[in-house]
Amino acid sequence: MSKGTKVPGYMQGKGSRNPRGIIGDREIRYKCSLQNTILDVLRGRPGWQEVPGQNNIQPNVNQANPKQAGQQSTGQQQANTGKSGSGSTTQGTTSGYKGSFQSIPPITRNSDGDWDFYWCDREWLAQNYDTMFLYEHQKILHFRNHYELTRKNLMVKNLKRLKKQTERELGKAEGQSFEFFPTTYELPSEYHIFVEEFKKNPGIIWIMKPAARAQGRGIFLFRRLKDITDWKKGEYQPLSDPNREVPETYVVQRYIENPYLIGGRKFDVRVYVLVVSYNPLKVWLYRSGFARFSNTRFSLDSIEDTYVHLTNVAIQKNAPDYDPDKGCKWSTQQLRKYLSAKHGVEAVKKAFKGIDNIIIKSLQSVQKIIINDKHCFEMYGYDVLFDSDLKPWLIEINASPSLTASGKEDYDLKFGLLNDLLNVLDLENRLTGKEKRVGGWDLLWEDGPILADDGNMECAPNGTTASIPNSFLGCHNERKRQLRELYTAAQSIKKS
Ligand code: ADP
Repeated sequence: MSKGTKVPGYMQGKGSRNPRGIIGDREIRYKCSLQNTILDVLRGRPGWQEVPGQNNIQPNVNQANPKQAGQQSTGQQQANTGKSGSGSTTQGTTSGYKGSFQSIPPITRNSDGDWDFYWCDREWLAQNYDTMFLYEHQKILHFRNHYELTRKNLMVKNLKRLKKQTERELGKAEGQSFEFFPTTYELPSEYHIFVEEFKKNPGIIWIMKPAARAQGRGIFLFRRLKDITDWKKGEYQPLSDPNREVPETYVVQRYIENPYLIGGRKFDVRVYVLVVSYNPLKVWLYRSGFARFSNTRFSLDSIEDTYVHLTNVAIQKNAPDYDPDKGCKWSTQQLRKYLSAKHGVEAVKKAFKGIDNIIIKSLQSVQKIIINDKHCFEMYGYDVLFDSDLKPWLIEINASPSLTASGKEDYDLKFGLLNDLLNVLDLENRLTGKEKRVGGWDLLWEDGPILADDGNMECAPNGTTASIPNSFLGCHNERKRQLRELYTAAQSIKKS
């Protein structure tokens, strides 16, 4: 923060630029409030230096209480996989780049201007953003009101609004492209509408979820209205916990009763999405991710059994027959390969295109609401569930997806993901700014859809460049080679 006039972050870029411009010859200085893979990545990055200081790193921030962030910071907590990272040791850079850092501005000597990059937690941002001075070059994780998308009830409210607007302006058929989130109501405010809907569909299963909690906490399934009247009288009475909202907001949602099963087990898919700007909307999609399986065979006979119905690792690792060595994850590549072998490449392409649609529509639903700020970026963890027809459903969006690794493979995935995120943000100024792919990240949207280049046609064997979106979720991710080629090309473009 500057010691002089305090300017809210969202006012930046309106005449309060760092007068020294963006040229310098010093190291990039970072702060990080997490003690997991992201810290390893930052420490392993050549030329980056940790800003010393207390309160920089908070132990176990994964467990932070969302209520501590004040009224508005109510986004759900990340789904911590519950295991410590498989390596807290620093690893070397994966890009192999050893360039100089000519584009970094001189250190600004004031209390908070002495960092260039801050991987902060949402609570810190909520408490500091409104009074924060940000210099031209500074980059910080999270947009101020990210919870518009990452809190379960607000996400649905925003999606419903854009769906209605689309139907009004473009017709009912267009509105169908929003049929990717299950029917959902907020409780207690929409209780009466829910009851009407409930009565129209006797016998179906509903899932009840606290709007601002995570890791499967407080979730249960039910078939009878009586089950929630009992719950309303019992557990729902929040008086025992002073930190809880009174009454706590829940969402009640139609349960997807026909999930796609592999080996008889249900799974959902974690998809990583990076937004570097909301206006214009600029979105990157990471090729790799994972499917999280439940440990117990799926059945609708035991709706009270969370090991069957909730795929959160935090839940599954407590299952009596959980095998920590086997875990319960598949890479997205493994999943795509399996599905392609079973249903053919075209069917899988269509299913994965549905995920692109989910990503773009959901981001558009908050595009006008999110306080856009060029200093901010967000890496979302989308949770998507396929039903037995391979139709993808949006379950939720996390603003702080777990960066704690559950094993070597998971660590490598997250290490590459985060390193490439820094490569996209490009504080070192090594890129041209016109890239469609940086490591494992593919540019999906920039004020409109991005189409694939020649030579980048994996997973799209029947398409042409004119019609293939630049989207490669679950495709081969040979990120190191791509980065080497990218930097060589960018260097020669810059020279010429
Ligand atoms: P949390 O934030 O607590 O993880 P989620 O909304 O992600 O809550 O739900 C936890 C898990 O419950 C999901 O990973 C998924 O396996 C299951 N689930 C949630 N909603 C549904 C639904 N509508 N239909 C089927 N399964 C669901």
